[in-house]
Amino acid sequence: MADSGLPHRPKPEETPEASAAPAAEGGAAAPSKNALKKAAKEKAKAEKAAQRAAQEKAQQQAAAANAEDTAKGLYGPIPESEDLQPVTNIQQLSEEHYEKEVTVIARVDNARVQSAKLAFLMLRQQGVKVQAVVAAKEPISRQMVKWTGGINVNSIVQVTGTVKKPGVPIASATLSNLEIHISKAYLISEAAQMLPMQVKDAERPPPLSDVVEDGVQLDAEGAPIVTLKTRLDNRVLDLQTETSQAITWISSGIVQLFSEYMLKSGARWIFTSKLAGAASEGGSNVFEVKYFKRKAYLTQSPQLYKQMCIAGDMESVFEIGPVFRAEDSNTHRHLTEFTGLDFERTFRHHYHEVLEFAEDLLVFILTELKERYKDQIAVVQKSYPKAGDFKLPKGGKALRLKYMDGVALLKEAGVDVSEQERFENDLTTAMEKQLGQIIREKYDTDFYVLDKFPMAVRPFYTKADPEDPKFSNSYDFFMRGEEIMSGAQRIHDAKELEDSMRAKGLDPNSEEFEDYLAAFRQGCPPHAGGGLGLNRILQFFLGLPNIRLATLFPRDPQRLRP
Ligand code: ATP
Repeated sequence: MADSGLPHRPKPEETPEASAAPAAEGGAAAPSKNALKKAAKEKAKAEKAAQRAAQEKAQQQAAAANAEDTAKGLYGPIPESEDLQPVTNIQQLSEEHYEKEVTVIARVDNARVQSAKLAFLMLRQQGVKVQAVVAAKEPISRQMVKWTGGINVNSIVQVTGTVKKPGVPIASATLSNLEIHISKAYLISEAAQMLPMQVKDAERPPPLSDVVEDGVQLDAEGAPIVTLKTRLDNRVLDLQTETSQAITWISSGIVQLFSEYMLKSGARWIFTSKLAGAASEGGSNVFEVKYFKRKAYLTQSPQLYKQMCIAGDMESVFEIGPVFRAEDSNTHRHLTEFTGLDFERTFRHHYHEVLEFAEDLLVFILTELKERYKDQIAVVQKSYPKAGDFKLPKGGKALRLKYMDGVALLKEAGVDVSEQERFENDLTTAMEKQLGQIIREKYDTDFYVLDKFPMAVRPFYTKADPEDPKFSNSYDFFMRGEEIMSGAQRIHDAKELEDSMRAKGLDPNSEEFEDYLAAFRQGCPPHAGGGLGLNRILQFFLGLPNIRLATLFPRDPQRLRP
């Protein structure tokens, strides 16, 4: 610190630059500070000029390249001014399109650059695949080939090209006898480079054994096995597979056929509430929800409402809607939410009028599915061949047995059915499956009906058999030995209904049954009906090992997403 008390100012020779500067050659004096500054300025100027020159050169080169790109405008992001050309569905392409120009919109199932002059795209639309090829030949440029072959898998593109017959059939494509020779390729929506699961890996069936946990496992051919959990976690990608596409079409078909049949029969399509103020079907399998300052419940079926509609003079009704079951059942055939196909109708003399209607309904649905969805069924069978073709009953009529006849068939096969004979228990799932086998062998059908269940195993609203009240006028339908429908004649007499409630330990005077019972006190015609599970029909028709594969976004005790 200087004595003056002012801050110390270094002398020029003390400055770091000066002390660090090498001594001038021959002992000449070191350059002055001004000279150094000037040199630095000039250096920076020169650098900037070089940068500018490089930029200009790059721009000129790009412009030149662009000018040379004979395919300019034929590829890239889809232009806003793109003519709206008619688009052909890939499914509809056929040999009739040979040498014709088509435009398709599809996902890129796979993209591959073969060489600087050749690239391939496998295009996929709703599970159907066709190969497209882009070759550098004016006006198609190498730049276009490179760009097209580099499109991220799963991106959505619009491709125009001429349909040609390939040299050899393309085994990996659904349409193996044609190929699109690309003249234009535009990107509509780009997929991320890294996907959580490859659609082509999900095309392979999930391992049947539950032993396989998460993580990549390879099959015998070295391809990754995608577990059911991974598929369901990434359901949107899984839905894009050929198999899921086929399954969801068949699901749509079941609903269409059900409603077609019902409407044709004169039934009315109804929509009942899924929120109820009481868990009135009894049982603990009901989801409770907060409803402002009180509780509400998600309905376990539209049962009571269907009957109230019958009491409301609707005569024949049906509904397709969600059904909620708060059952902690972790099985291959139970969900906590499924789609119910329900119907209810009046009859004149005997509940078999309704039973026969329901049997014919199912035979109609199953027969038409086989006819209208042949292609989709064949696709599903490639992944799930084990169950084989679904066997329809001969002569277009359902096979109907009495419940006790089914029990007798099991007994004959050596199964212990003592609890069933004492009416203590319904058939177990294992017994149902075994009975399905026995019936398939004996009657050559995968669809059959059991009638006259013991009253003890049916709900309170079921009508007892007037000839033998140990039994009831109730029935279950089975596909491949698993239950897909429950139904019955319902009690329509208020007094009889109250007695039946008491016999099942329910209190007819409790508030929760007030509205339901009122419907019968006001007079109600005899009626019967049933409740089917859409997901189960789909599962067992196709022989799928798990109901989750037959459900868009399954809900079970473990799963509430996606
Ligand atoms: P299960 O004995 O198989 O549990 P359930 O006797 O409880 O069935 P119902 O209450 O009679 O079945 O329901 C009628 C139909 O609804 C069944 O035949 C089935 O098709 C479907 N269903 C019932 N519960 C479920 C569930 N948890 N998940 C999927 N579908 C179901």
